[in-house]
Amino acid sequence: MNNIIRKNILTLKPYSSARDEFKGKADLYLDANESPWDDGSQLNRYPDPMQRDLRKKIAEYFKVEEETLFIGNGSDEAIDLLIRVTCEPGIDRIIQFPPTYGMYEVQARIQNADVKNILLNKDFSLPVKDYQSQMDEHDKLTFVCTPNNPTGNVFPTEDIEALIRTTSGLIVVDEAYIDFSNVESMIGKIGDYDRLVVLRTFSKAWSAAGIRLGVAIGNPTVISYLNAVKYPYNINRLTAGKAISLLDEKNTYKERRELIQRERQKMRLELSKLPGIETVFPSEANFLLVRVQNSATVLVKKLADRGIIIRNRSYLPRCKNCVRITIGRPEDNKRLLNNMKEILI
Ligand SMILES: *Cc1c(COP(=O)(O)O)cnc(C)c1O
Repeated sequence: MNNIIRKNILTLKPYSSARDEFKGKADLYLDANESPWDDGSQLNRYPDPMQRDLRKKIAEYFKVEEETLFIGNGSDEAIDLLIRVTCEPGIDRIIQFPPTYGMYEVQARIQNADVKNILLNKDFSLPVKDYQSQMDEHDKLTFVCTPNNPTGNVFPTEDIEALIRTTSGLIVVDEAYIDFSNVESMIGKIGDYDRLVVLRTFSKAWSAAGIRLGVAIGNPTVISYLNAVKYPYNINRLTAGKAISLLDEKNTYKERRELIQRERQKMRLELSKLPGIETVFPSEANFLLVRVQNSATVLVKKLADRGIIIRNRSYLPRCKNCVRITIGRPEDNKRLLNNMKEILI
C-alpha cells in the first residue's frame, strides 16, 4: 500500500479530539468547550468521531469487520478522500469508463489529478482489453460504477476481477444502485483483494439522500488513511440516529426496492411502445436510459414546461439523444407516461 498512498498521508498525524483522548466513562465533560445544556437529544455535544454505534450497526448489516468500514458524508466524501489520499496533484491520475457518474472527474480535477477516460464498449460493457494495454504506475484509482449511472447495466464480476488483477492502484467499485439489482455485491471479495474498495450509499434505495451517508468498504490499511484525513466529526448526530433507525426497520426498504423493480419493468415496456422512442435500455438500477428519435433536449424542455424534470444525458459519449428517467411511485410514473404520450405524438 506504500506505493498507493501519498507520502504526506503515510506520515500524517491526524487531529486528536478531546473525545478521542479519553476512553473511560465519565459523567462531567468540561473538555470540548461545548454548551452544557441538553434539550434531550444530546445535540449540545459533539458526535463520536469514530461513529461507534453506527459503525457497529452498518458492519452487522454488510457482514464486515468494523475496521474495513469508512463512514462518510455521502459516498461523495469517500470518492473525494480516496482521491486525496492516493493522487499526488499534477502527477497521478484516476481512470474512469464514460459514460459514468460525474463526481469522479470533478473530485479528481479539484485535486489536480489527471483523468484517463476509457470509453465503455458500444454495448456498454467494460473495455477490459483496452484497460489492460494502458496501465501505468501513476494510475492510482479506477472507478467502476455497477450498475452504471447512467447506462443502468451491471458489469460481470469476472471483468472487474480482471481489472483488479491488472492495476497497480486501487479499484473502486461504486455500488450506489446495487440494491435495485439481483447481482451479488463485491463486498464479499474485499478479503480476497487488497486493491478493492466498494462504495455503498443510503441515498438511493434507503430513501435517505437528505441525511448524507455513504460508506467505503476495503482493506483496513486503506480505510485507516480515509479515517485519518476525514473531518473529525464528519457524521452528525442526526444522521447517525436516523441511519440506526433505518437499519432497525428494514421492511420499508425491502418493499420499496421491490416496488421500484416492478415499476422499472412496467415502465420499460410502456415507454418502448411510445412513438418517437428508439431504445429503452435494460436497467438494474432505479432509472432508465432512453434514446429518443428526435432531440432529447426538446423533450426535456417540453416535460419541464409541464413541471416534470428528467435528466438530459445526450451530451455524454455513447448517449446521443438519451435521457435518464428516475423510477418514481406508480402515480408518478403514470403521470410521466401520460405527458410523454402527449408530447411524442
Ligand atoms: C447517487 C450516486 C451516488 C451517491 O452519492 P451520495 O454522496 O452517497 O449521495 C454515488 N455514486 C453514484 C454513481 C451515484 O449515482
